[in-house]
Amino acid sequence: MIFDIITIFPEMFASVFSGGVVRRAVDKGLMEVRVHDLRDYTHDRHRQVDDRPFGGLEGMVFKPEPVFRAVEALRGSAPARVVLLSPQGRKLDPRLAEDLAGCPRVILLCGRYEGVDERIVESLIDEEISIGDYVLTGGEPAAVIVVDAVSRFVQGVVGREESVRHDSFAEGRLDFPQYTRPRDFRGMKVPQVLFSGDHARIGRWRLKKALEKTLARRPDLLDRILTPEEREILEEIRNERKEQ
Ligand code: SAH
Repeated sequence: MIFDIITIFPEMFASVFSGGVVRRAVDKGLMEVRVHDLRDYTHDRHRQVDDRPFGGLEGMVFKPEPVFRAVEALRGSAPARVVLLSPQGRKLDPRLAEDLAGCPRVILLCGRYEGVDERIVESLIDEEISIGDYVLTGGEPAAVIVVDAVSRFVQGVVGREESVRHDSFAEGRLDFPQYTRPRDFRGMKVPQVLFSGDHARIGRWRLKKALEKTLARRPDLLDRILTPEEREILEEIRNERKEQ
């Protein structure tokens, strides 16, 4: 899995990818993250990548020429999915992250200023991806988030596949609460059931806690087909609430 990031601020990526899971994945050869300076694809003395928008508005937009040149050069002969980071794109979610993890190569184009010339959107890129309904000053932080979220789905990157499976959203609900030592911290005790050694009981308790949280914070996630066990536990939670 290779990411090619096109940016006018290549130095922004050095520290974020110098540690953690992405770094380990790169060291293990499971992923590659290459960063390319868009200005290397300009031909003028000022290495200009932007220009004033037609129609007379404030601000600047990315010119088509350097961006087309960069993407075409990187695309070369090997197939790649070309993505523009944009608040107008499809919102990143686990399904999209997993889908991208299955691509051998993804080119991420980071916009700046007022955005990019629309011909880039119409004729060059395959899709636009947004990281949420807010506007950033540039696509770089969004690219970092995409690489990070996708890395967790690349085979072998996250040590135990299990942890990805029960993380929030993976099964259409939020994750269950976790505890570690000490058993008693300033009078706050770890729930007794976790010491029982009874894995079926622990499993059911975790599912119940996950469903309680999901119901309280993200009930929208439960608008899906529930398993019989989930349905039974949700019923139990609702009955307990009524009693209170
Ligand atoms: N005028 C544009 C926003 C430009 S912001 C509009 O309103 O649609 C400058 C750049 O930041 C964009 O080109 C994009 O690459 C990046 N960006 C801003 N918000 C983003 C978001 N929510 N998700 C992904 N990229 C974003």
